[in-house]
Amino acid sequence: MKEFDFVIIGGGCAGLSLAYELEIHEKLKNKTLAIVEPRDKYKRDKTWSFWRVTSHNFDDCVKKSWTNFSINVPGKTNHIKYKDYPYQSIDSGLFYEKINNRLRENKNIYFFKDIKEINTRNSFIFNSVPSIKKNYLNLWQHFCGVEIKTKNNFFDEEIFNLMDFDCEQRESVHFFYTLPYSKNKALVETTWLSKMNDNSQKDYDQQIKDYISKHLKIKEYEITYKEVGAIPLFYPLYEKERNKINIGTAGGMTRLSTGYTFLNIQEHSKYIRENIENISDSKRFKINKKYQLLDEIFLRVLKKHPERMSDIFFNMFKTSPKTVIKFLSNKSNFFEDLKIIFRMPKWTFIKALFY
Ligand SMILES: Cc1cc2nc3c(=O)[nH]c(=O)nc-3n(C[C@H](O)[C@H](O)[C@H](O)COP(=O)(O)OP(=O)(O)OC[C@H]3O[C@@H](n4cnc5c(N)ncnc54)[C@H](O)[C@@H]3O)c2cc1C
Repeated sequence: MKEFDFVIIGGGCAGLSLAYELEIHEKLKNKTLAIVEPRDKYKRDKTWSFWRVTSHNFDDCVKKSWTNFSINVPGKTNHIKYKDYPYQSIDSGLFYEKINNRLRENKNIYFFKDIKEINTRNSFIFNSVPSIKKNYLNLWQHFCGVEIKTKNNFFDEEIFNLMDFDCEQRESVHFFYTLPYSKNKALVETTWLSKMNDNSQKDYDQQIKDYISKHLKIKEYEITYKEVGAIPLFYPLYEKERNKINIGTAGGMTRLSTGYTFLNIQEHSKYIRENIENISDSKRFKINKKYQLLDEIFLRVLKKHPERMSDIFFNMFKTSPKTVIKFLSNKSNFFEDLKIIFRMPKWTFIKALFY
């Protein structure tokens, strides 16, 4: 069986981002890489959105970007404008196509469907397949989004809605998220933060249908695309093994309070590329510990007081847009962290330190 210098398990967001980063920086000129990915065909399956707080390789896969957004709770709306860090949405179909076209040009890169087809004994492995142990206490961000095309112009394409809490909460945390791509096209998503043990939350199609017709009051539309997902708001198992690094969700690249992962994956890929010559001896790349701690407290409050979360999120966005965006994108400094912390209900958070 053939051997390779590097093996990437899982050719999804993290696996392909890493392969692309290595390829464009000519790290695969004299090294071989095997990518193990079971899917037969790549097609658009996700929309990755984030505030562009750092540069990345995929500006040409951006479907749309915005500098205005809103967040609302029943009876109150906050409009937020911030030009320096636009919110970008990446079309995964364009992303897969761009990367695969480039990788196919390098004869040192091989593609396999199953790890059993190769000998990995002497390879350095980058694994993006998470190992998740079922635990009824774990929180998930689970959601379903549909892209709709309306008959008449309806949306203001300049402003997206990050969180609309004016909807049924069912003793959990629930909001809608709307990304208007044009006046008559938008992604409308129903999102839950919960332990995912309540099947009644999973009637996503009905939730979206009701929201579009009763809340947005759109009568005539067609659904042109659908995505469903569940992001773990906990770290998957990560066993330290020689010559193996976990990447992507498996590598702890998800920000637990928000589910944002895409830009962390890009930063991790860059870090690996910069250290590829000594990768076995490099320090593990992690999201800064302060965010791990703050997010853990935040999620404890969320588990204990789901009914308070809409106001907590709403108040968080009353600080300056720069501060909150930097905080949610792991780029805040100490003073910006404090500004966010002071927006939180203090006793609830202090008590959460002890339960
Ligand atoms: C629908 C959806 C929307 C999201 N939207 C956002 C967003 O807007 N912003 C954001 O920051 N994050 C978002 N995320 C979170 C995160 O960015 C994505 O989950 C991202 O795809 C994670 O990358 P990954 O490589 O870890 O996992 P994946 O992209 O899922 O890649 C894992 C790959 O491993 C393959 N695989 C599975 N089993 C095996 C096996 N046994 N052997 C080999 N390969 C295997 C899979 O086919 C897949 O291609 C979203 C997640 C989902 C599910």
